[in-house]
Amino acid sequence: MSLDITAPPVRSGPDELVPSRYALRVGEIDVLVVSDGVLPLPTAMMAYNADPAVRAAWLDDMFLPPDAFDWPLNVAMVSSGGRTILIDAGLGLDPDLHLPRAGQLIKRLEAAAIDLASVTDVVLTHMHMDHVGGLLVDGVKNRLRPDLRIHVAAAEVKFWEAPDFSHTSMPPGFPDALRSAAKQFMKQYRDHLRLFEDQHEVAPGVIVHRTGGHTPGHSVVRLTSGGDRLTFAGDAVFAVGFDQPDWHNGFEHDPEEAARVRLRLLRELAETGEILVATHLPFPSVGRVAVDGDAFRWVPVFWDY
Ligand SMILES: [Zn+2]
Repeated sequence: MSLDITAPPVRSGPDELVPSRYALRVGEIDVLVVSDGVLPLPTAMMAYNADPAVRAAWLDDMFLPPDAFDWPLNVAMVSSGGRTILIDAGLGLDPDLHLPRAGQLIKRLEAAAIDLASVTDVVLTHMHMDHVGGLLVDGVKNRLRPDLRIHVAAAEVKFWEAPDFSHTSMPPGFPDALRSAAKQFMKQYRDHLRLFEDQHEVAPGVIVHRTGGHTPGHSVVRLTSGGDRLTFAGDAVFAVGFDQPDWHNGFEHDPEEAARVRLRLLRELAETGEILVATHLPFPSVGRVAVDGDAFRWVPVFWDY
């Protein structure tokens, strides 16, 4: 069952004027990046250990507003060896957090003529609400296959039994919302979980690796086929992370370790020249990493139409 990314969109309403999906191939593996929307969040959270003046200067250089900006939220669909794999599931519904511009995944998969019943596997980079929430939307579970496999690191499931938020810096309401989403997820999907320790091959050339850092079970997904490579980095890298890999993101449960993970990953990606896709990089978030002095530079690919 392959991911038919050439199928015509379902004409259920007017097309969105800005595209929300981008397809590419990694050797024999089909990849579709789908935007779940954007999360307007305070800018302080992307660098809460930075000098406010330095942070303000970075935002100004990027032509971004000083107080809050829209964080992109990307999900990927991957097809390899007859398996159709959803990497993360977007925000879903957030009645209390007031983020109405995210949670678009289900609608956008429908617009791409992708049936939820075709998904054989879900890989979760971690269990934050903006990565599992789409699975919790009313009616979604019933449309998924009864034999759906959900791959997540054992350390992640363990962490959410008693999560530590003492090193995070989130807006009010977020810790409770994240705890509750993780709890709901476990309640609804426990029987579907396929836990792994350090790494697991989900399908030919699709390997999930635990990195830790952002959360103890945070993982990245590495695609390798025919000499091509792509890494889906989840929340290991944010838009500020190329210029300032040491800046702590407020959602990181172990910010020191998260910075080490980021640095290691960026060095490796710069070395291999492979494609990077990450959850919160600007859509379609398809690019490469270059070394720039003692930091890095994000080099988006030229869109291939
Ligand atoms: Zn996230």
